[in-house]
Amino acid sequence: MKVYKFGGASVKDAVGVKNLAGIVKNCSDDLVIVVSAMGKTTNAIEAVAKNYFNGNKDELILNISTLKQYHFEIIADLFGNLSNIISKEITSDFKALEKRLGHSPSLDYDFEYDQIVSLGEILSTKITSAYLNYIGISNIWIDIRKGLRTDSTWREGNIDWSLSTELLQSQFNFSANRIYLTQGFIGATVTDQTTTLGREGSDYSAAIIANILNAESVTIWKDVPGIMNADPNKFEATRKLDMLSYREAVELTYYGAKVIHPKTMKPLVEKNIPLYVRSFIQPEEQGSVICSIDHIMNYLPIFIGKDDQILITISPIDFSFIAEESISEIYKLFALYRMKVNLVQQSAMNFSVAIDRPERGFDKLIGDLKKKFVVHYNEELELLTIRYYSEEVIKEMTKERTVFVSQRTRTNARFLMK
Ligand code: ASP
Ligand code: MG
Repeated sequence: MKVYKFGGASVKDAVGVKNLAGIVKNCSDDLVIVVSAMGKTTNAIEAVAKNYFNGNKDELILNISTLKQYHFEIIADLFGNLSNIISKEITSDFKALEKRLGHSPSLDYDFEYDQIVSLGEILSTKITSAYLNYIGISNIWIDIRKGLRTDSTWREGNIDWSLSTELLQSQFNFSANRIYLTQGFIGATVTDQTTTLGREGSDYSAAIIANILNAESVTIWKDVPGIMNADPNKFEATRKLDMLSYREAVELTYYGAKVIHPKTMKPLVEKNIPLYVRSFIQPEEQGSVICSIDHIMNYLPIFIGKDDQILITISPIDFSFIAEESISEIYKLFALYRMKVNLVQQSAMNFSVAIDRPERGFDKLIGDLKKKFVVHYNEELELLTIRYYSEEVIKEMTKERTVFVSQRTRTNARFLMK
């Protein structure tokens, strides 16, 4: 049994869904197909959740009608005159959403978010599954929320592995059917409240399902040829990495490579399941594979850039040294405001930290730090990590830039710069 995961970009329109069908048709194995919301739907429904929560009625109405139009256009393109095969069901999903939005929200934004934003995956999977059946690729649509159970950490549900194993193994029965199609990104609590697993979490869903069903492999179909040594949108002359160890892949996601969701690797390593990253635009090409490798690999230099970093420099008010107690106090505040620390540098009287610009809480963090320390910060910096660097590569990448912090280990050179 194999798991195929298709992200939003691969099903952004009818052409994309038809392309998915072509890829699935070429596979003769038992298959679980995991699909994300279509195109930028998740962003669009996030706007719905925000406007609902903030009571912006006019914008809300506009948001919903745009979403409807987008999905019904894809349905019309796929099914033509026979659109009613699926449009009735999609209409009723939108009615249920509108009913929900007609009541006033609870006080918990993150809870409301999960109940609303999960609709993107429900719509995309219903449409895709119906289309495959319509053209003769017979498959069963699964509501993954009935099997994938989490705790009630809204927007970042933690998997209940033992319960999910029991439920998922009875949901997917390959002696009865060969192809199943289901949602990424979503799950549910034991009391059937929908949860989500974090933005871009469909990769993680695919890995969880693969782990529980003991899949032979997972393939993530993307709009890039595989895992590249740099983000092609940011760097020139990028090259494909044909093979990576699980460890290398975990490191890349840690430093900020966006190619795979960071949580994806663990469930795969545990069962030694290889992860293929392949292009849905050129499905005949090989792509990249992440697997267990026991020999030393010679990797190309790998570049990972993280934009919009803030460097916070913290020093004691009274000329004392930065001691362990202050550091632990500082870290507690970062944890409290859920800030992600990407780089740390310490000297006698300074403790410097680079973080992603947070959505909220930054002013509060600075306020709290200023109660005990002198605090300065620099904004709009880029954090560049170069793995397997050489001196020439470093020279090239840092020329004409102002470097605020630089750090080197044997494998990594890191530069926080403007
Ligand atoms: N649709 C969700 C998102 O855009 C999950 C995913 O695409 O992986 O974040
Ligand atoms: Mg996505």
